[in-house]
Amino acid sequence: MTLAAVVVVSLIAALAVPVFTELPQRRDAPTAVPTPKATPTPSSPSPEPKPTPTMPSDAKVLLKKNPIYRLKVPAKCRYQSIPASEAAFRKQVRSLVDCQNSAWKKALSATPVKFTKPKVKFYTNSTKTPCGKLGTTFPASYCSGDTTIYYSRAAYLQGRYYRLSVAHFVMHEYAHHVQSIAGILGSTWAMKESAAVTSRRVELQAHCIAHYELTVAGVGYSARDHQSIQYQWDYTNDPKGHSSTKAERYWGERGLDATNLGSCNTWTAKAARVK
Ligand SMILES: [Zn+2]
Repeated sequence: MTLAAVVVVSLIAALAVPVFTELPQRRDAPTAVPTPKATPTPSSPSPEPKPTPTMPSDAKVLLKKNPIYRLKVPAKCRYQSIPASEAAFRKQVRSLVDCQNSAWKKALSATPVKFTKPKVKFYTNSTKTPCGKLGTTFPASYCSGDTTIYYSRAAYLQGRYYRLSVAHFVMHEYAHHVQSIAGILGSTWAMKESAAVTSRRVELQAHCIAHYELTVAGVGYSARDHQSIQYQWDYTNDPKGHSSTKAERYWGERGLDATNLGSCNTWTAKAARVK
């Protein structure tokens, strides 16, 4: 590898990480890796060795045909209620992360993606991270530098807006962790497009995966929850980094209707779809 290539990757990663990972504040008061075909060899009496799937080595292919896209990720999380206290909120977040850990570990075992758990940290108003200082502009963030999900007190306060608020916070940040371990966050430089467009592909993919997960994670997703969620799509405080309400609605609905993660492939979408 050339020195130039190393510099470019680390520079972009450093710029991209803090921007990439945050969940916008809410308002209101309330294709798989092609598995090589085993060629049958009739003369051989021993069974064919199973081919070991590998990650695509080309960054663009990794983004557009990531092995996670063929996955279904059902989970058995708890039925959700609005947390009564900050302590209850923290407990609820940890329980949901644990349940997502089990679900993703199982699903990813069918792919070459190596599963690791994210860490979870809580803070009140601000905290220092390898991705820079976090405040409360964004209630929750994921930093790939230390593979940690951060929740501020604002996440707790906003986690009381509707029944699936806390689950939504967890699923969104967890989706960023999946993007990290699946090599997506480390490959975004390959798009060679405006940073804002790439940032929105990252965010809308996490947004879509989070909504898919809400429907399959056992949290009791219902038509009424659908209404609350739709209401949230009408607000954004970060159209440049996180997208317009129109794109949030488009990718949110795709997530809710998805049967696997392929519906959340924002990397093959036209730039106008992630505006
Ligand atoms: Zn995000």
